[in-house]
Amino acid sequence: MITVANAGMYGTAAIRAAGAEPVYADVDDGSLTMSVDSLKAKLSPAIKAIIVTHLYGRLADIEELLAVASHNRIPVIEDCAQAHGAARNGKKAGTFGKIGCYSFYPTKNLGALGDGGAMVTGDDAIAARLKQLRQYGWSRKYVAEVGGGRNSRLDEIQAAILAVKLPRLDLWNEKRRAIARRYNDAFASLPIRTPSGIDEGNVMHLYVIRTEKRDDLQVYLKGQGIASEVHYPLPDYRQPCERGRLISASDLPVTERACREILTLPCFPEMTDQDVISVIDPVMRFFAHG
Ligand SMILES: *Cc1c(COP(=O)(O)O)cnc(C)c1O
Repeated sequence: MITVANAGMYGTAAIRAAGAEPVYADVDDGSLTMSVDSLKAKLSPAIKAIIVTHLYGRLADIEELLAVASHNRIPVIEDCAQAHGAARNGKKAGTFGKIGCYSFYPTKNLGALGDGGAMVTGDDAIAARLKQLRQYGWSRKYVAEVGGGRNSRLDEIQAAILAVKLPRLDLWNEKRRAIARRYNDAFASLPIRTPSGIDEGNVMHLYVIRTEKRDDLQVYLKGQGIASEVHYPLPDYRQPCERGRLISASDLPVTERACREILTLPCFPEMTDQDVISVIDPVMRFFAHG
């Protein structure tokens, strides 16, 4: 299966769980989502599926990626765990490919109080099968028809919380975008790369900048009481559990470089104006002092 290596092991873990082998496509330098050209280059008859991750809240080039996949009759699975509500021309993340996968982990744009997730599909046969797989492969009580089933039910308390929060999702996403736009305006003259295209296709799950001074900036911000994170510091093929998988750095140059440059700044709907300023100010000071 083809996926990207800059999305925190989620796709790779799923591929390994399915007993398959990950093949990595590089990411696009502007969006940090799967590169169409790299996907084309990685296709082979061995490829059974493609996992496209809508990273940081941004819809990948999903139409172009799908065109390549369908030309080769390969199904696309969308990882929408960071892209709840992202859309292009009104069409939502998760409705482009065969299956869309959502996480409702509490920190996601739509989060429960604990763990949870959901899959969406327009294919009735897949939907029926997924319903069986989430409960031991049962077709009816205590009759396991399909193998590989498990207990993966969304518990009702979480479902109830999500039902209350879902109608507010678009509003919260808009608040995230507003914060991101304020950051972008404030940082416009700095020698950093900021997220572009903050529109309906980007729900700003994470506000990620790129700078060669990433490590120094992170240390400085920490000293100023501002938390930042790196999403994600290790490409999947360099994770300890994947050791032994040798991929030459020149094979995925954008993935490699982004890992060294990315830094996530606080961006969530509950931030006040003062919170936003308290992030902008130290970032400005850091670059003013060179
Ligand atoms: C959070 C996340 C997941 C995993 O979600 P879980 O609910 O922890 O299984 C998968 N993919 C991406 C891109 C994520 O951000």
